[in-house]
Amino acid sequence: MKILLASSEVYPFSKTGGLADMVGALGRALVKAGHEAAIVTPLYRGIRERFPAIRPAAWHFDLPLGLERVQAELWELERPGEARIYFIEQPDYYDRAGIYLENHLSYADNAERFIFFSKCVVHLARYLPWRAEMVHVHDWQAGLVPALMLQEKRAGWGNPPPTCLTIHNLAYQGVFPAAAFALTNLPADFYAPDGVGTEYFGMLNCLKGGIVFADSITTVSPRYAREITTEELGCGLDGVLRENAGKLTGILNGVDYAEWNTTNNPHLFKPYSVTRMAGKKVNKRELQRRVALPVAEKIPLFGTISRLAEQKGVDIQLGALEEMLNSNIQFVQLGSGSPEYERAYRDLAARFPGKVAVQFGYDENLSHQIEAGCDFFLMPSRFEPCGLNQLYSLRYGTIPIVRATGGLDDSVTDFVQNAGAANGIKFFEYTTRALAKGIRKALAIYQQPGLFRKFRRNGMKADFSWNKTVNEYLKTYQGTLK
Ligand code: ADP
Repeated sequence: MKILLASSEVYPFSKTGGLADMVGALGRALVKAGHEAAIVTPLYRGIRERFPAIRPAAWHFDLPLGLERVQAELWELERPGEARIYFIEQPDYYDRAGIYLENHLSYADNAERFIFFSKCVVHLARYLPWRAEMVHVHDWQAGLVPALMLQEKRAGWGNPPPTCLTIHNLAYQGVFPAAAFALTNLPADFYAPDGVGTEYFGMLNCLKGGIVFADSITTVSPRYAREITTEELGCGLDGVLRENAGKLTGILNGVDYAEWNTTNNPHLFKPYSVTRMAGKKVNKRELQRRVALPVAEKIPLFGTISRLAEQKGVDIQLGALEEMLNSNIQFVQLGSGSPEYERAYRDLAARFPGKVAVQFGYDENLSHQIEAGCDFFLMPSRFEPCGLNQLYSLRYGTIPIVRATGGLDDSVTDFVQNAGAANGIKFFEYTTRALAKGIRKALAIYQQPGLFRKFRRNGMKADFSWNKTVNEYLKTYQGTLK
């Protein structure tokens, strides 16, 4: 099968979160399963310097965007065993310091930037001699592709391939003032107030357009697929999702174990595995040293890596830590995002010197070291479509403490669910108290070395590899083709 993927971020070229990891890994998994996959993504600043093998693809875009025409060039990269990557070079749009924002402010022209990107995707789907049989788009940035393809069909594209939309996070929908609709150059009926269109409460909603016009929809865990059809977690689109529930499925993300492993990983201080755990102690010691916490083997070390956004449960985490840091524990945090949250973490570190280490910014290397060096990993998300860090934690023998929501609930097994297979701690209520109780449970497990080892072993043996995930995507593609 020939699958064209489209995403505004792809690891290792660009990344702000799980979307990049997922699309990079899906491309590779499709190729490994014997299919042909190509990924389209913008050429952001610095990518060409980091990947000098990227070549011009001798393809020029000259596409309408509202009343203007916008030009772009295509670049490509082939790597053995990987999906081919097509990069859209449009310096005015993509050669910037950030991907979506700068100094905590979204770019004012994000509608233009990603509507143009979506048009390039459609153009490639239609005119590349390599004829894609399936077009799989990700999140709002490519959400208008199915609508744009339908319009091309009306305008003479004989037999366009079917489309699949994956929602990685319903909270980000690409909502813009109605005037932005003109940039799509779609006829007015695509902006229909009766709900069958890209219009939503008088605004252009790129993700809603994808939900309405895609042939199939997936999201990144079975539980999140159910949750987004409810008012509580539907982010205003639950009604539209219920209407389209027949084409919606939840597929848990896989982990790229070639990147995220403890046996052959240049980021780690020492390799370790489920049968040779001594190396984990070295990683703990070196992590403590690196983030300037007292080196102490016996003190339980908790960690977090996340975007500092409301979704991630920062408020209850700050409250629970405030309470629990009076015990003999350490906490290390890596994150970036809201300046208020950064300030709150800095305050926490100042109040608990020698117990709390906070690092801000994006740091791939440190993220592996936190996963490897900690004893427990905190993910108290308000909602979590899939979540990758709890999956990485399991493989790294770092016991996850998670709120039972979305993919966190689907991937972590607690003692009450299955005592023999437990690999993490779950709590249900979104409160400081419930999280603090989860941390107390962790401390109780830590005091019982046999039990602690068992949780770790269960986690490290759990298999969230892409083999299973890719088969589910292929099933979805095949179902859509029919
Ligand atoms: P989301 O996509 O909502 O941010 P996920 O858990 O699905 O959350 O994926 C987050 C990904 O981004 C993980 O690979 C995580 O390690 C990474 N990440 C998040 N923040 C940072 C950071 N400050 N430095 C390095 N990696 C980070």
